[in-house]
Amino acid sequence: MKDKRIKICSAEKCFNKSKRIYESTDSFCSECSNTLVLACKKCKSEIADKGPEYNRCLACKAKSHDLRDKATGGTGFAIAVAIVAKKYAPTLINMVKK
Ligand SMILES: [Zn+2]
Ligand SMILES: [Zn+2]
Repeated sequence: MKDKRIKICSAEKCFNKSKRIYESTDSFCSECSNTLVLACKKCKSEIADKGPEYNRCLACKAKSHDLRDKATGGTGFAIAVAIVAKKYAPTLINMVKK
């Protein structure tokens, strides 16, 4: 698996920080020669080295999980409505007839 993580300069005062994105194979900042740290792909905050698949911070990961949960929840709700509608449709039609 290709390492798609990004790196940013670890120096707080480096003007390159969060502007210049380095590849995971880079080790030093081209501006201030400080060491590079792994950063979240989305918000550019520092992340721990947990393997190539961890390219986002916990906050960004939680956000994407939220979106997925909402999406599936929405589909589940639509299905439930459809089932209920099917179940009660004859009753409703009878009520209208009466
Ligand atoms: Zn730097
Ligand atoms: Zn993030």
